[in-house]
Amino acid sequence: AFLSLDGPDGTGKSTQHALLVDWLAAQGVPVTACTDPGGTALGQQLRQLLLFGRDHRIALPAEAMLFMASRAQLVEEVIRPALARGEVVVADRYTLANVVYQGHAGGLNPKDLWAVGRVATGGLDPDLTLVFDADLDVALARRTRAADRLEERDREYQEAVRRGFLYEAGVRPGPYQIVDATPDLATVQQAVRAKVARLLT
Ligand code: C5P
Repeated sequence: AFLSLDGPDGTGKSTQHALLVDWLAAQGVPVTACTDPGGTALGQQLRQLLLFGRDHRIALPAEAMLFMASRAQLVEEVIRPALARGEVVVADRYTLANVVYQGHAGGLNPKDLWAVGRVATGGLDPDLTLVFDADLDVALARRTRAADRLEERDREYQEAVRRGFLYEAGVRPGPYQIVDATPDLATVQQAVRAKVARLLT
């Protein structure tokens, strides 16, 4: 099975991702964790460029395609082989992030980005995507590490990101499920595990 976790910055997505992977592994489930962008040698270079490359302004469509390229490599090198071995793959972000950040919030056409995403992934979609959602003030207050290049964007952009995630999840009920990320970590993790257990059993 292929799972992905997504949502705005500060919703605890990456922490929940790590907790979920540990929980699955502790139960003896063969699991592969990956991060998008990243997860391969090419993906790591693209991630560096996208998040910390301050020396050049990256045009929005170029930014979108670099995220797509990183994912294409990840699917080919990591995700498809792991699925072929019968493992559960848990990705920290996937095509949805591209559609929301560069589409809904950035201004590119979300439908076009879904189409490019199908090219990048060869049509490989997650069986389940958990979309973490929290009020923007909660999310901003939670951010602990220093903001990367892409996080230094204004409030209006962050609001558009949240709305984009809610919209895309809302039109795909079933494979895309919203998780309320407002409560404490343990409570959110319980909700995550319940949804994943339902898929895997
Ligand atoms: O998942 P993570 O928080 O590490 O993402 C790193 C940064 O990349 C975040 O600031 C996120 O807003 C941004 N991002 C983006 N477009 C994507 C995926 C992530 O702007 N397609």
